[in-house]
Amino acid sequence: MRDKILSTLENYDKDKICIATLGSHSALNILKGAKDEGFNTICICRDKERIIYESFGVADEIIPIKDYPDLLDDRLQNKLIESNVILIPHGSFNAYIGSLEKLRIPIFGNRVLMEWEVDRDKQKEWLEKAGVRLPKTYSSPEEIDGLAIVKFPGAMGGKGYFIVASKDDFYEKAKRMVEIGLITENEIKNAFIQEYVFGVNVYFSFFYSYILNRIELIAMDRRYESTVDALGKIPADIQIKAEIMPTYTVIGNFPIVLRESLLSQALKAAKDIVEVSKEIAYPGMVGPFCIESVFDENAEMTVFEISARIVAGTNVGIPFSPYSYILWGENMYMGRRIAREIRLAVEKDLLNEVVY
Ligand code: AMP
Ligand code: AMP
Repeated sequence: MRDKILSTLENYDKDKICIATLGSHSALNILKGAKDEGFNTICICRDKERIIYESFGVADEIIPIKDYPDLLDDRLQNKLIESNVILIPHGSFNAYIGSLEKLRIPIFGNRVLMEWEVDRDKQKEWLEKAGVRLPKTYSSPEEIDGLAIVKFPGAMGGKGYFIVASKDDFYEKAKRMVEIGLITENEIKNAFIQEYVFGVNVYFSFFYSYILNRIELIAMDRRYESTVDALGKIPADIQIKAEIMPTYTVIGNFPIVLRESLLSQALKAAKDIVEVSKEIAYPGMVGPFCIESVFDENAEMTVFEISARIVAGTNVGIPFSPYSYILWGENMYMGRRIAREIRLAVEKDLLNEVVY
């Protein structure tokens, strides 16, 4: 696969590289970043979202599609390749396209690692090898021995997740979630059950630069989730009477500045995660990745997930976050950082190293 991608790249006019992505998730971030770095841009989007990308003027061209998997259409792929396109993958690639095997267009990033991300077992293996603190995983509901969170496959932004207090509670809640149509019977069977770590969330968005040979902290955020973030608006007795169950549908994000002494835990985790990525999937991490964590009452960090691509939480860092500003002293945000790496790679004739 990599050989094929590299031979496609060989035929590209490197002075006319165009940056493209699917119109959703963090496309405004990506396309604006590409424009800031002087690239032409293409947004491939559905009718429904067209209004978004027309409203902000960051796409030089908008290519309409019926649905996301149409990106794999041969004619469209050929057109994009003819336009010297490098595609920037984001959460919708995981959520709506899945396997990138049929994608012949060069992408910025490591598509093998993106597959490690969507496979929970592989993800666990990766994080375990990196030696970061992880929540316990329960391989069956029978093993639940305390607060647990029940998750579903893919990057569906927390939709349908629920918390249980015990194994009996699991069966009861699962039944109810199916009855009210929030999840299907089949999803319950494939549910991923994890120890629930009580604390506050911090999502760290890093960038691993092959060109500069360093890991950069670009942005930090937390999510705004419906309905869990609305629970405090309702008194506990009403919550009980109305049988309200929190869900985790992501609606937006807030920026965070971390207590400075806690940065060491995150920076160390990022370094170890990048090291292991090189062992498990050559050439290892390329560009953006996100460590999703909980800090407990002892200010200890537990990592509950990793994303091997840009996450939408980086949208809080446009035009810069405190961290990207300290590093770069200029407007720098994830979309722009990606485009900057591509530009530097073109200048140094190292594009092969950052594209897969
Ligand atoms: P959308 O284009 O909003 O449908 O998002 C594409 C995918 O990314 C969906 O699976 C979303 O749940 C996920 N997603 C979008 N925005 C965010 C966000 N701010 N945080 C986490 N996940 C997100
Ligand atoms: P995710 O889609 O995995 O990023 O998580 C969605 C939501 O579930 C976020 O609010 C997380 O904070 C929460 N969450 C996921 N896993 C855990 C965990 N093991 N302990 C506590 N909260 C979690």
